[in-house]
Amino acid sequence: MRCGRAAGLSFPFFVDLLELIEIKFYPPKELDDLACWRIAADLVTPHNASMNTNPSFHSIPLSASLDASHPTSSLVDRFGRQVDYLRVSVTDKCDLRCSYCMPKGFRGFEEPENWLNFAEIERVVAAFGRMGVRRVRLTGGEPLLRKNLSHLVLALSSHSEIEDISLSTNATQLEKHAEALYAAGVRRVNVSLDSLDRACVESITGSDNLQQVMRGLQAAKRVGMRPIKLNMVVLGGINDHEIKRMVGFCMEEGFILRLIEAMPVGSTGQSSQFRDLQPIREELVKSFDLQPMVEEIGGGPARYWSNRDGSSTVGFISPMSQHFCATCNRVRLGVDGTLYMCLGQNSQFPLRQRLRDGISDTELEQCIREAIELKPERHEFNSKPTQIIRFMSQTGG
Ligand code: SAM
Ligand code: SF4
Repeated sequence: MRCGRAAGLSFPFFVDLLELIEIKFYPPKELDDLACWRIAADLVTPHNASMNTNPSFHSIPLSASLDASHPTSSLVDRFGRQVDYLRVSVTDKCDLRCSYCMPKGFRGFEEPENWLNFAEIERVVAAFGRMGVRRVRLTGGEPLLRKNLSHLVLALSSHSEIEDISLSTNATQLEKHAEALYAAGVRRVNVSLDSLDRACVESITGSDNLQQVMRGLQAAKRVGMRPIKLNMVVLGGINDHEIKRMVGFCMEEGFILRLIEAMPVGSTGQSSQFRDLQPIREELVKSFDLQPMVEEIGGGPARYWSNRDGSSTVGFISPMSQHFCATCNRVRLGVDGTLYMCLGQNSQFPLRQRLRDGISDTELEQCIREAIELKPERHEFNSKPTQIIRFMSQTGG
């Protein structure tokens, strides 16, 4: 059922809008009139509408997430860190096999009956929203492999507490989905791209996909997603010679480059190709006359540097050489409904069975509080590099 018709909306604009994006919400949920109006209004003025205004990038001060219009019982862990950011893995499957993320020939994926369905994901996100989470990132595995992802985005967009819905993707399917995702509420996208060289991309990811990714990036740009950040995991002797080229490419295209140190997550991340980003940053600072940015972009682990005219911004994510645990504001929901408290620790809290046993919203919130109590002070990638045996694609990187 198209909710524009179901609601009998008289404004042709709203009807056109709803027709255009074919709101079908995931079955069996049907929308009532009020919900239709709300979604239409949300689409015209999404909660994260401010994301769309800045042509180059949008910066989100950390304080933006503490919106006084949403009184909350905020989630603060044992170390005084406020959790206001949830990463949701919608699948552990992927069409690529990045060498640092998933081993070739890997088959140990979660059974579909154990995947949280969209209604379950929405319920967990809504509970986090009531408890102060303002930002949600959809990730995986490759999130665009999950069928009808834009329907989930639309459902999450209807929760006014959730002010920002973003996506991490390898972009192989982004060309096809960018428009629907944007219409449903995804305003920002992070794209994994480790090289601009076709053969190098193929050797890292196991597939010849550079052209597809480029088309995906252009589609994201065309539909208005801002900022578009490129995530480049820097691997010694593999792609580290391409960093300056990548900076130039991002400058030309108006993308933000983020350089990432490989973490030992699962056997694939035990990288002998690890590169410390500190000397790389020093070199880029000199070559591109970069200054540290005072403003946070996105409130995440990256530390950003920018040139004087603002045409180039480079983020450095250095979990190994300069960990960022003291300001960690996030937890992760795995595709099977496990809450992971830290990428580099095994602290976790299983929610799926509880959800399927019919716990109440109050009990769900209590579970989330118990889970947050488990959040460790910091990762132990350096001291215990073999501790984490699950892959990043399973945790929801
Ligand atoms: N498939 C999507 C993608 O590639 O963007 C989303 C999931 S992926 C696990 C999310 C991010 O994790 C990517 O930017 C990827 O580069 C990063 N990643 C995966 N394994 C990593 C590792 N061992 N160390 C550092 N970053 C890693
Ligand atoms: Fe897939 Fe992303 Fe992992 Fe690469 S980094 S294998 S694209 S999940």
